[in-house]
Amino acid sequence: VVLLALLTAASLFASGGSQSGGSSSASSGSALIGIAMPETTVLRWVKDGNSLKSEAEKRGYRAELQNGNGDQVLQNQQIGNLLTQGAKLLVVGQLNDGVASAISDAARDKVAVIAYDRIIQNSADYDYYITFNNFKVGQLQGQGLVKGMNLDAATAANPKYITYFAGSPTDGNAFFFFDGATSVLNPYIEKGVLKVVGPAPKTSKDTAEFQRIATEGWLPNIAKNRMENLLTGDARNVTLDAVLAPNDTLARAIIEACLADAKYARKLPVVSGQDAEAASLAMIKSGQQYMTVFKDTGKLAEAAIILADQILKGVANPTVPGAVLASSIGLESIGDTGKKVVKAYLLDPINITQDNWKEPITAGFITPDEVAANGL
Ligand code: BGC
Repeated sequence: VVLLALLTAASLFASGGSQSGGSSSASSGSALIGIAMPETTVLRWVKDGNSLKSEAEKRGYRAELQNGNGDQVLQNQQIGNLLTQGAKLLVVGQLNDGVASAISDAARDKVAVIAYDRIIQNSADYDYYITFNNFKVGQLQGQGLVKGMNLDAATAANPKYITYFAGSPTDGNAFFFFDGATSVLNPYIEKGVLKVVGPAPKTSKDTAEFQRIATEGWLPNIAKNRMENLLTGDARNVTLDAVLAPNDTLARAIIEACLADAKYARKLPVVSGQDAEAASLAMIKSGQQYMTVFKDTGKLAEAAIILADQILKGVANPTVPGAVLASSIGLESIGDTGKKVVKAYLLDPINITQDNWKEPITAGFITPDEVAANGL
């Protein structure tokens, strides 16, 4: 009996010991995934970071989350720290191509890197990129504006007027958004039924003109100032029917500038957007913003970690459910870093207008707090 009691105690101790040992070794022994997000001006990056961390932890990894706050020097330091902490894989949303040097340190340490949402430019030191179909994001914006302006009914005698804004010239996505949008709009310009007010690049390759519509760092104040100047400058003798705005943060800044102008306060131009931010969904609901593009970043984060898991397990050709390879739909250039073409996995963006503005809420992308705070 004593022996039995001793054995039981020993086995209890052993199982208790191995349990706590097991769980602590599951956390201290499991690989560390380093997450480096670029900025917090645009709300999504906070959500992206949190989703990536929880998706990694859900799959038994340790995860460390950093945000560069719009500062490339800081982002590089954070990546350096993640490497020092022993990260085995990095998920990086780049700020600008200055991150390439930090990525080469990762390659030196044999740490795999996934470019997240934004391509890491001017680097040949990584192999994977996961994002949305950014050309399609732009196409959805272009199609939304066509519908919102009723452009198919316009004539050359009575054309519609649009002005263009693009995202940050340091963000590869900005070029795809713009090219997707103008691929839809250019035929109307050629027919003479759509006129561009202000700088009018046909594509982002029209570098000098593109720079004039680009919004450094995606900063809303830059867009607001430019819109104010347009209204009293290039656009003073016309009535703008539409504004191509590349994301919701900039769309709201542009709408704010319009609302301060008596002419547009009465009838706003049709304005596009992207990101399905709660504040913009409220404006779509009320009719102030025409459309947005919903990119479910919760799904992107999940897909990125599914990819990370396979890379860490040495799977040669990782597959990501719900994503297509850019090369399989003729969009290899989405994976072109300028130094190499990486494997790019693309998720599908969704068009949102007044008809389906609740979709991001139903999908759980907008939190109950955001619903309440924005009167949705
Ligand atoms: C992202 C957009 C975002 C923008 C500004 C882009 O790279 O794809 O979703 O609005 O950056 O942060």
